[in-house]
Amino acid sequence: MRALILGGTREAREIASLLQQDNWHVTSSLAGRVKQPALPVGEVRIGGFGGPAGLVTWLLKEKVEVVIDATHPFAERISISAAEATRATGVPLIALHRPAWQAGERDQWIPAGSMEEAARIAARRFHHIFLTIGRQQLAAFAKDPHNLYVIRCVDPPEVTLPRRHRLILSRGPFTLENEKQLMRDNQIDCLVTKNSGGELTRAKLDAARELGIPVIMVERPELPGGPQVRTVHTAQEAREAVYEV
Ligand code: NAP
Repeated sequence: MRALILGGTREAREIASLLQQDNWHVTSSLAGRVKQPALPVGEVRIGGFGGPAGLVTWLLKEKVEVVIDATHPFAERISISAAEATRATGVPLIALHRPAWQAGERDQWIPAGSMEEAARIAARRFHHIFLTIGRQQLAAFAKDPHNLYVIRCVDPPEVTLPRRHRLILSRGPFTLENEKQLMRDNQIDCLVTKNSGGELTRAKLDAARELGIPVIMVERPELPGGPQVRTVHTAQEAREAVYEV
């Protein structure tokens, strides 16, 4: 049995190891954004397919029987490619949608519909802003010459950064105590994050709540759905779904 996992997430690595235990022939696909990515078990390919048409070619050539889209909730283009290519080829698609974080009573979240909106809110209302949004969209904050941005990402950014910034290169995971310390040390008065969901990076939200710091929460893009897509929420559900599609 032959599966393609579109990866780059912890769940994708979990699915690879679950399906390998079940003797599936699994290929995990990574975009190649991170210099030293955490690798799943089994075969790995790195780099884009060349849009939906390239993915169609790959699926047919490799005789893939099921595609599992376990990419990050903000990786919109590859999910659209997966939906289009599986529709065109008739290969079943399982999409893992990690549940979004929900605000609790003591959280002070400010929703933002896009990174540009998040940047406008941050520049207007806050002064020491902690950015945990990865490195691809940092340029949205570069227009603000006044406020200080503490930027944490895995690899060095390659885009224009705000004039006043501190860069922290680190992969995590981070504990609640680490996060609180970092926020206190840098006198952070606002955290900006995407609503990625999951346990791996949620300590920053707990820290912000405990310190009474507002969070600008960038909402998720709408991901492709439709009758041919089977949606699951965990790696274990994905493992079960491959026998049902
Ligand atoms: P994206 O905007 O949806 O994708 C841009 C292009 O990169 C796609 O059109 C595709 O190129 C290629 N691509 C993306 N994911 C791929 C994969 N798993 N395998 C092969 N090609 C892939 O994606 P992104 O937001 O840049 O994210 C890239 C990767 O990082 C994803 O695997 C995602 O799971 C992971 N990641 C993203 C975030 C985030 O915040 N966006 C956070 C953590 C991890 P072609 O059109 O040429 O096929």
